[in-house]
Amino acid sequence: AGVALLLGASACSTERTDDGAPAAAGGDSGGLVGIAMPTKSLERWNKDGAHLEGLLQDAGYETTLQYADNKVDQQITQLQNMINQDPEVLVIASIDGTALGPVLAQAKEKDITVIAYDRLINGTGDVDYYATFDNYKVGQLQGEYIVDTLGLDTGAGPFNLEPFAGSPDDNNAKFFFSGAWDVLSEYVANGQLVVPSGKAPASNDQWSSIGVQGWSSDTAQSEMETRLNSFYAAEKVDVVLSPNDSLALGIAQALLGAGYTAGVDWPLITGQDADQANVENMLIDRQAMTVWKDTRTLGDQVAAMVDQVIKGSKVTVNDEETYDNGNKVVPTYLLPPVVVTKDSIKTSLVDSGFYSAADLGL
Ligand code: BGC
Repeated sequence: AGVALLLGASACSTERTDDGAPAAAGGDSGGLVGIAMPTKSLERWNKDGAHLEGLLQDAGYETTLQYADNKVDQQITQLQNMINQDPEVLVIASIDGTALGPVLAQAKEKDITVIAYDRLINGTGDVDYYATFDNYKVGQLQGEYIVDTLGLDTGAGPFNLEPFAGSPDDNNAKFFFSGAWDVLSEYVANGQLVVPSGKAPASNDQWSSIGVQGWSSDTAQSEMETRLNSFYAAEKVDVVLSPNDSLALGIAQALLGAGYTAGVDWPLITGQDADQANVENMLIDRQAMTVWKDTRTLGDQVAAMVDQVIKGSKVTVNDEETYDNGNKVVPTYLLPPVVVTKDSIKTSLVDSGFYSAADLGL
């Protein structure tokens, strides 16, 4: 849902560097907002950053947007530089959700409000709000898609499953895995799903044993290659639980290398983010589904929260019990994720303007 921001002052320009110091604040504006994003290497964060920056500038705020190349130290340095410029608000999509306590203590000393963006920041009282998509629901949608598509609820199987999980340092990853595993584990237990590699965590808490550090496509690819080489001499993999699109890309590469053919013996692969390369893979049957999080709605929500903070109004949240960061329960705004399959690419992604038909070669 679009959120109208009604500020008049004109926005100042912003420097966008991956590692340099933020641009100096200056000029008349509604205040400075620092935006820290994890990496430019994944499509979604580029969209997230550009959209949020545009909304805030249109609303009369000055912004400094920084990407940290997935390096924790770099993100901390960027945050320190932002804090030195006395922003009103910091919006942070963290790389390691447990590593920001000390730098956020500096922000708190200066009364800077901190909004965790998409990923929760853990172990500190100095995070004020959190806005994200319902992360547990993302995993649940992936699990339910697998159950429905394979007909597990009507007794079908056995099917060979290979499960993957996200980056162990990302607080979201355990929610994605738990959502999926709460749906799938009963079918692993009853033998309708078989995991030839043995890489089925014994419980949700063990998820990080199959986590892919940094959400790397290359690591997912080599892990999938290892599993295929070691455990699939005589069998085929039927389904891969992939928590997101970057892993799904690497997994698809490994399958191609092992001689799998789309539409013939290609397994069902899940994903998340509706990244362009993955949507293109869905069109040629190399990925079955993705969980789409319309990042524009997250940006709209966070821009509204920033505006509420700076104007001193009540900040809108809709969940005050789920996201305990080990120090406090962080007031959260949760948005709904949506399943997209080949059949709904046009109605979901194109008709909403997330992609143009030309982007996808349609
Ligand atoms: C985000 C996902 C994304 C992943 C890798 C997660 O925290 O919620 O949308 O795929 O990070 O960047």
